[in-house]
Amino acid sequence: EVPAFNTLAVDCVAAPDAALLPRVPGLADDLFQSDGTMTKREVRAVTLAKLMPMRGALLWDIGTGCGSVAVEWMRAARYARAVGIEPRADRRAMAAENALALGVPGLQLIEGEAPAALAGLDRPDAVFIGGGLSEAAFATAWDRLKPLGRLVANAVTIESEQVMLALQARHGGELAKLQVARAEAVGRLSGWRPAMPVTQWSLVK
Ligand code: SAH
Repeated sequence: EVPAFNTLAVDCVAAPDAALLPRVPGLADDLFQSDGTMTKREVRAVTLAKLMPMRGALLWDIGTGCGSVAVEWMRAARYARAVGIEPRADRRAMAAENALALGVPGLQLIEGEAPAALAGLDRPDAVFIGGGLSEAAFATAWDRLKPLGRLVANAVTIESEQVMLALQARHGGELAKLQVARAEAVGRLSGWRPAMPVTQWSLVK
């Protein structure tokens, strides 16, 4: 007989302020402190799926911003490690607070820019490039990535998409365009508010 695991509703009644947080990526945006430059929930979930968090695996999160991808990586698998590379101190501070608040205080944060700041880091199992995509940053990340490692890059600006498409033409990998719209109030009615489309490049070494 299957034991009854569905006691969640009962537990929530007992502790009405309790937060219910899944380990599966795609946490609500308002759980993170951010200045608006954060990868939104739906795109974040797809990004993490392609990065494939695994037990004990190391992520390089290049352009970590407020750390949303690194935090979800660390939450998704036991002993998962992440290092966030971010030049802006205000965003590194938000990333540190998000990591603490969401139960992964071990997030390592590095001041600097890719590719220079990547020197000397342990070899990663996965790399996410959410900012600072360049030929040199890709070359270093790809070289250091372990065999079977995953690399995912997201581009919002036309300039970074151009860099991405040039790299994809030479190195292959999959391209996807993610376009999300959410229903919002329009006066007393509602309408679809589109978020900026994200071009996503992913490849496996
Ligand atoms: N990865 C974040 C989004 C951050 S926005 C998330 O998913 O929520 C992109 C970030 O890249 C910015 O904070 C910017 O400061 C940073 N950035 C820009 N160029 C960079 C570089 N060369 N190396 C590392 N970070 C860079």
